Amino acid sequence: MKTDFDAIIVGGGPVGLLLACLLKQQGKRIRVLEKRTQPIAHSAAIGITPPSLHILEKLGLADEFIAAGTKVRDCFVHGQSTLLGCVTFRDIPDEHRFILALPQVTTIAILQRHLGDEFIATGCEVSGVEQFDDHCLVCSSAGELTAAHVIGCDGWRSRVREWAGLDAPVHTYDLHFLMGDFIDRTGFGSEAHVFFTETGPVESFPLPGGRRRWIVGTATPMDQPPPGLVSELTRQRTGIDISVADQVNESAFTPHRFNCGRYYDGRIILCGDAAHGMSPIGGQGMNTGFADAEFLAEVLCHRDPALLLPVYSRFRRKAAQSAIFRAEWGMWLGTRKGRALSLLRDLLLRFLLRHGRLAQQMGRFYAMLTIPFNTLARVPQTTLPPRTA
Ligand SMILES: Cc1cc2nc3c(=O)[nH]c(=O)nc-3n(C[C@H](O)[C@H](O)[C@H](O)COP(=O)(O)OP(=O)(O)OC[C@H]3O[C@@H](n4cnc5c(N)ncnc54)[C@H](O)[C@@H]3O)c2cc1C
Repeated sequence: MKTDFDAIIVGGGPVGLLLACLLKQQGKRIRVLEKRTQPIAHSAAIGITPPSLHILEKLGLADEFIAAGTKVRDCFVHGQSTLLGCVTFRDIPDEHRFILALPQVTTIAILQRHLGDEFIATGCEVSGVEQFDDHCLVCSSAGELTAAHVIGCDGWRSRVREWAGLDAPVHTYDLHFLMGDFIDRTGFGSEAHVFFTETGPVESFPLPGGRRRWIVGTATPMDQPPPGLVSELTRQRTGIDISVADQVNESAFTPHRFNCGRYYDGRIILCGDAAHGMSPIGGQGMNTGFADAEFLAEVLCHRDPALLLPVYSRFRRKAAQSAIFRAEWGMWLGTRKGRALSLLRDLLLRFLLRHGRLAQQMGRFYAMLTIPFNTLARVPQTTLPPRTA
């Protein structure tokens, strides 16, 4: 059947937009359906890792991203009372020796501009997807459309996942965080600083435009945080004064994790947060979704995508599992409270950060250079179906 599109992408978040750009570049007929009409209000993902910058290079966008963001080359790790060491990206084996800090809203804006308005329908909510032997039917507030494949990039509350019967149990951690972006008067410049204290963690990352993000661990979920809580907890735990008057936004989050057993069913495919969820602590969610998008674009441009979808599902699932585990481990370590555990953590981190080779590994680790299976070329070739060679 001649369909309206080769691929319909449900959700114009960062992952859906990147996938659309990659498919458009290969001449595919695509459409992104996005229910939002306004940009997101909070900055969410801010850390773009070197592997993601390489994907953006394929689109000729890396320079624009780098010019808009702040290069974070060092992350200083503080214990209860002293500096324990530094995770540096200055000597990682990549041409981009930094993490790029850029608010998600800007990432979305650049990708959207690159894609072009004619490829995105905004204010268009998808209400159902049905699949047949040779096509999918998508029902949306803008009417019915057909496509060879439908890709659910509709975030962690994905309805596409539900319609395809791919849901996985979601585990919610009993850990809570509050974050706010502030006008930066610390003098930290482009440095990141994390403080692991007896009473809870504080993380601080530079943002472009003279701003800085502060994240504090809280004892309970903060649906209605008292005014000034980020400043107050930061002062109590680190002695650093950040003025409430300088705060420009605030949001709270309670991390969760899940990983779908399979990332596709027939012609319906999941990508990004729709397929997996991980703690934002560690800054990997969007980057993992970007790598999904790169892999999936290759699969969808193959002469027989059905042959390669099991490979996409298997290997990107493994990659996500690895990121989920790292995020969980890092969050667990950072949120241990009390004097004894804090002392043990200080000892462990000092050891890891002050021993040359181990310290070097930390830079590679947080730059996500060690997450496997980003592209088809990086999966064991013996696992590919014979007819794909
Ligand atoms: C506080 C915080 C900090 C973070 N920091 C980082 C970081 O530094 N680095 C990092 O890599 N990740 C980070 N993340 C994670 C990152 O924000 C997510 O992984 C990323 O947004 C996932 O992108 P996505 O496109 O898959 O989904 P989303 O961003 O959730 O986009 C989904 C889109 O689908 C649309 N949609 C949903 N349902 C429908 C429908 N039925 N019809 C049409 N449209 C629909 C939504 O409106 C939305 O625009 C952070 C997250 C949080 C909460």
